Amino acid sequence: MKIIAVNAGSSSLKFQVLKMPSETVIGSGVVERIGNDNAVYTLKVKDEKIVFNTSIKDHQKAVDIVLKSLIDHYVIKSFSEIEGVGHRVVQGGEIFKASALIDDQVILDIESLNELAPLHNPANVVGIKAFRAILPTAIHVAVFDTTFHTSITEDAYMYATPYDWYIKYGVRKYGAHGTSHQYVSERIAQITQNKNLKIVVCHIGNGASLCAVKDMKSVDTSMGFTPLEGIPMGTRSGNIDPAVLQFVSKKLGYSLIEDINILNKESGYLGLSGISHDSRDIEDAYKAGNKRAILTLNVQAKRIADYIGSYFVYMGGLDFICFTAGIGENSALLRSLIIKRLEGALGVKLNDEANKVRGKEVLISSSDSKIGVYIIPTNEEVMIARDVYRFSK
Ligand code: ADP
Repeated sequence: MKIIAVNAGSSSLKFQVLKMPSETVIGSGVVERIGNDNAVYTLKVKDEKIVFNTSIKDHQKAVDIVLKSLIDHYVIKSFSEIEGVGHRVVQGGEIFKASALIDDQVILDIESLNELAPLHNPANVVGIKAFRAILPTAIHVAVFDTTFHTSITEDAYMYATPYDWYIKYGVRKYGAHGTSHQYVSERIAQITQNKNLKIVVCHIGNGASLCAVKDMKSVDTSMGFTPLEGIPMGTRSGNIDPAVLQFVSKKLGYSLIEDINILNKESGYLGLSGISHDSRDIEDAYKAGNKRAILTLNVQAKRIADYIGSYFVYMGGLDFICFTAGIGENSALLRSLIIKRLEGALGVKLNDEANKVRGKEVLISSSDSKIGVYIIPTNEEVMIARDVYRFSK
């Protein structure tokens, strides 16, 4: 059975075609700048990369182009070979406690959550509609970023704001990156043949969140009502005192919308370093002795170490710390800055030689470390494909 795992953004469409149940990736790609005359579609088949520069007016057109290219490059013989499509959806709110077989009602339910994820859910639905239109006989499954976090209990998901905000408007922590956190935890359980573990997963990419996982269930996570909460990210601030917004608005004459936009798009690594949102640039500057680059990574390492410490307390111990996503998998420097801060209190130690590894599944703690530290490259697409496959049977 061939399945497409889809991640539709407001102007992008990422996908992977997988053969199931073998989980073999037979094609993947990304369409960027949808809605523009200079859209770019990059298709990867086997080790070949094919780049199309063309005008793509909307997601429907993008899906047309993608599916035709899959035939032209022998990934599929006809559209009907795609028997299932898995759609990543960012916000499932309190409605979706599991992945859902998509019908008209499910689409309406996802749309009812648009207010909670205005940048993401509408784009996800556009993707769903475009694929349903062209592949009407395939099964379509929505896989939510929030599902894994529905096991978090109210002591951890409630804000200390007026209770009515929660009752009337659903103001609470929902989290994100759930599919990635779950994938990494399940890999650790497979590697150790043990599901009764206390794990902190550090998903650190452009977007970044941590998750405390106990007995394979999420018990807390750093992102909140939106992906703005938690640790600093490429351009997002993570936690700040909300009173700063009022103060800065007065000083600079910004509206609340402008303030939040700055916290989402001009803060984090970019805002603090003044160099770039990309951690590779920050690390180059750090190594060259740039003060603000050093500050940026030290702030990040402290925040992450603080979260890990608090999750250690919340779970009553810790067996594994796992690093994943672009920075987590690749940055030996940040991993070492974080673990050094935890060494004294938690007895966790890195094997510096093993920590030089990038993007491979490997144990990087030393043999006398009290907590195991792993790099586990994430694979959200395979999790999506597995859910679609489960529904197909
Ligand atoms: P997202 O999926 O959230 O957009 P990714 O998981 O792809 O993000 O991570 C992107 C981040 O990973 C960027 O900041 C990039 O600099 C970082 N990254 C990639 N390779 C390296 C590396 N070798 N060293 C440090 N950071 C890296």
